[in-house]
Amino acid sequence: MTKERVYLYDVTLRDGAQTQGVDFGVADKVALARELDRLGVDYIEGGWPGANPTDDAFFGNPPALKRARLSAFGMTRRSGRSAENDPGLSAVLGAKAPCVCLVGKTWDFQVDVALGVSRDENVSMIRDSIAHAKTKADEVLFDAEHFFDGYKANLDYALQCLDVAYKAGARWIVLCDTNGGTLPHEVEAIVTEVAKRIPGKHLGIHCHNDTENAVANSLAAVRAGVRQVQGSLNGLGERCGNANLISIIPSLMLKMGYDVGLSKADLTHLTHVSRVLDERQGRIARLGGREGPEHL
Ligand SMILES: [Zn+2]
Repeated sequence: MTKERVYLYDVTLRDGAQTQGVDFGVADKVALARELDRLGVDYIEGGWPGANPTDDAFFGNPPALKRARLSAFGMTRRSGRSAENDPGLSAVLGAKAPCVCLVGKTWDFQVDVALGVSRDENVSMIRDSIAHAKTKADEVLFDAEHFFDGYKANLDYALQCLDVAYKAGARWIVLCDTNGGTLPHEVEAIVTEVAKRIPGKHLGIHCHNDTENAVANSLAAVRAGVRQVQGSLNGLGERCGNANLISIIPSLMLKMGYDVGLSKADLTHLTHVSRVLDERQGRIARLGGREGPEHL
């Protein structure tokens, strides 16, 4: 029997790079992208074009990748602008990455308070942005920010946001536990419900580690049907970090029997790739990063 495929999406160069005390330069990003490509992940999120000069330089001259697809991260359009005339979205799409991942809000509280726009306008922002991105990139992902909190607060609204993104052409709907506060049994129950309306082969999971459950939550989501897992090398990420791909990859392959696109020989490179990230972070710390090992 052929094994079911689960796709791996690395966020080290975006979520990881936003971590306090981490300051990747272009050379660091290129080196890490090459290591990730050699390891065999499916997607590498290179950063946020238009957000800072490093990410612009990286996407201006991206490394040639043999196995992975490069993804550019960005936000849905702002309120009051068309997707075509939004400078932030134009910068992301202008990077010409084959994949584009757009984050949008799905928690009604966040729409009301953080965005301060009507709930209908937020739905339009998601729909327009995904549809426009589809005309510029091969593959579009929708990152459903705070999805699990949104689902608990207002299930109908959270699901409506996913539905419009999916119908607008998103290849992947990525369920984000942005606060890292959801527990594995909740993830499994909620993803099971979501997978009844959007097929699991179009669902991804993006977990933060604030309750130390990011890896467990990612595995629970796969059990419930998602077929893309987002995470970072060594779990590098804001606050308590992201789901650790170094733990997730062998768990999915060896314990759960999924095909994640890596061979057994690729798996032997995991330790090396993990150490390369440590070395890059250590070097940044020696050059003056605030929270490096010798400053703790
Ligand atoms: Zn994140």
